[in-house]
Amino acid sequence: MFAIQPDDTLSSISVGIDELAAEELRHVDGADLIRTWKERCRLDAEFTRRFAVFEKRDGFTADGALSGAAWLRAHCHMDAGAASDRVFTARKLLSLPETEAAFGAGEINYEHARVIARAVDSCGPEAVLEHEKVLVDVGREEVPQKLRYATEVLQNAVDPDGALQDANAQHARRGFWISELDGMYRLDGNLDREGGAALRTALEAIMGPPAGGDSRTPAQRRADALVELGRLALDRGEAGTSGGQKPHLTILVKAEALAGAEAGELEWAGPVPGQTVRRLACDCAVSLLVVGADGQVVLGSEERRVLGPAQRRAIEHRDRHCRFPGCDRPGAWTDGHHLVHWAHGGPTEVDNVYLFCRPHHRLVHEGGWRVSKQPGGELLALPP
Ligand SMILES: [Zn+2]
Ligand SMILES: [Zn+2]
Repeated sequence: MFAIQPDDTLSSISVGIDELAAEELRHVDGADLIRTWKERCRLDAEFTRRFAVFEKRDGFTADGALSGAAWLRAHCHMDAGAASDRVFTARKLLSLPETEAAFGAGEINYEHARVIARAVDSCGPEAVLEHEKVLVDVGREEVPQKLRYATEVLQNAVDPDGALQDANAQHARRGFWISELDGMYRLDGNLDREGGAALRTALEAIMGPPAGGDSRTPAQRRADALVELGRLALDRGEAGTSGGQKPHLTILVKAEALAGAEAGELEWAGPVPGQTVRRLACDCAVSLLVVGADGQVVLGSEERRVLGPAQRRAIEHRDRHCRFPGCDRPGAWTDGHHLVHWAHGGPTEVDNVYLFCRPHHRLVHEGGWRVSKQPGGELLALPP
């Protein structure tokens, strides 16, 4: 086989780019731009492919670098995160033939390749190889965020325990900072899926669609909505006392999946583990939608609350506060937790539903704690 000298080939690419740069641009065609983007992706793929070999054979030691990532930082001036990300992706692509081919053909870009490479860790190599063609097809048609969504659906299907662990790790990373600087407030933070979806749903509800003549930027409208949310809570004088009900979160879940380990989909946020779905469904409003094979809704029903207002009052009267042993958070900050979940046939009756504050409710569902009722009516909580 005729071996192409990389130096010569690179020189000809250089000459080609020089020629493009020398062209006078009076008009730029969308089709030309798309071709340019595709070639850019192909070159990125080739860089990644070469780097994988370079790194595998410790080529970086010749330049005195201690690792492939350090070499990328020193010679390609990448940030530490981008460099280690490139090393990770380059290594994984060696065993992802469909992904490497589509990247090399410029059909997907580096971000897509990176998402599929990450999925090897979250879903396991067998599952990714088995579904690689489907994932690559998603990448060909969709933005990387949609592809990530697809890999999360896959993870929830093949490794629900791992998906739950990842979701719990994300929950642990939540945080919110508010600081005052130069007369303005700066907000910064991370929310998990459920928290982010709740906030986003509330903000969207306040913002509504942009009205004609509204000259505010989307960021300004969002900021105004956040302030409005704070005012509404203060005006009602009952911040945090929503009575444990979350009427505005929408989760899509198959009825038969609610009792099993299958994940659901939270509007605005994507897949959430089955344990989270069951916690949210413990005390919520349920609407039944029957969806046909073509994805069209064939039957919809009225929304009904799992706990009626009278039941909720009776339970609040009995419990007064969170019933997790040792906790005294007030009833207003609690959800009604079914000891035997209604999806598993547990009755929505006063003696099967107890008040649990949000952190303890989470501990019972996502944290795997088991709560049982003692003969005297006290609750006993056992760690997983
Ligand atoms: Zn519950
Ligand atoms: Zn509690």
